[in-house]
Amino acid sequence: MSQQPFKTKKSLGQHFLSDGNVIRKIIEAFPAQAEDWVLEIGPGTGALTQYLWPRYPKLEVVEIDPQAIEVLQHSFEGMNIHHRDILKLNWEEIIPKGQTNYVIGNLPYYITSPILFALLEYRKYFKGALLMMQKEVAKRLVASPRTKDYGILSVQTQLMGTPEYLFDVQPGSFSPPPKVTSAMVYVHFDKAKLPCSDKMLKSVVRTAFNQRRKKLSNALKPLLEGIEPTGFDLSVRAEEWSPDIYAEFALQVERSRR
Ligand code: SAM
Repeated sequence: MSQQPFKTKKSLGQHFLSDGNVIRKIIEAFPAQAEDWVLEIGPGTGALTQYLWPRYPKLEVVEIDPQAIEVLQHSFEGMNIHHRDILKLNWEEIIPKGQTNYVIGNLPYYITSPILFALLEYRKYFKGALLMMQKEVAKRLVASPRTKDYGILSVQTQLMGTPEYLFDVQPGSFSPPPKVTSAMVYVHFDKAKLPCSDKMLKSVVRTAFNQRRKKLSNALKPLLEGIEPTGFDLSVRAEEWSPDIYAEFALQVERSRR
């Protein structure tokens, strides 16, 4: 590792892992095999990378911070480093086709949701993703209907994959410590293709939860114009419907528009 002093940038969500036990637990939880392609999001100065690079010769990393890039180039010779904003990444361009791919990352928390949505969008290329995020977001991924954490992220993630809540990580395991407790989640991308398009599912789920206090007959009104989906209880609120009901409903709306 480079010894140069590194000034962490709050604006980039830089909370570097400093707890060797937690780092070990993360590496042990990562199911990728040596021959797999692995993408690390936000490697920073390499707290995880230092253990990943010797294990995964096809490891590639995406990092936005030029100072971190310098450290990485110095420390991990030969590694493919993408100096990019993950939210502007052309995923199709960098993901190899026809082999097993994984994602790992201690995510920058200010953009956790958009990163998760991007991973869901490109899930067909990935076997799984091992991710550190705010505990509050991790709870949303695995939340059940009729709970306060259940929402857009829960429905989409549970339909497009199988999220597994692994363990909590306390603020003291990072330098500098974040204000919130964190959690590791593994998302298995093991689900069959949805019956509806991703686009329609997203539209239905967003429309429903954007007015989560209203009955679905009201909340979903913009989508119900001119159609009468059968077999759905629209007298309840968005949190009552399971992910499968959302997928079925999106399919009916889509069919009725064809
Ligand atoms: N993996 C390192 C660790 O565990 O110590 C660093 C994790 S830190 C929580 C998040 C990292 O994501 C930082 O290195 C930060 O510079 C990087 N990052 C922030 N925004 C980014 C973006 N839009 N695209 C790519 N990387 C980003």
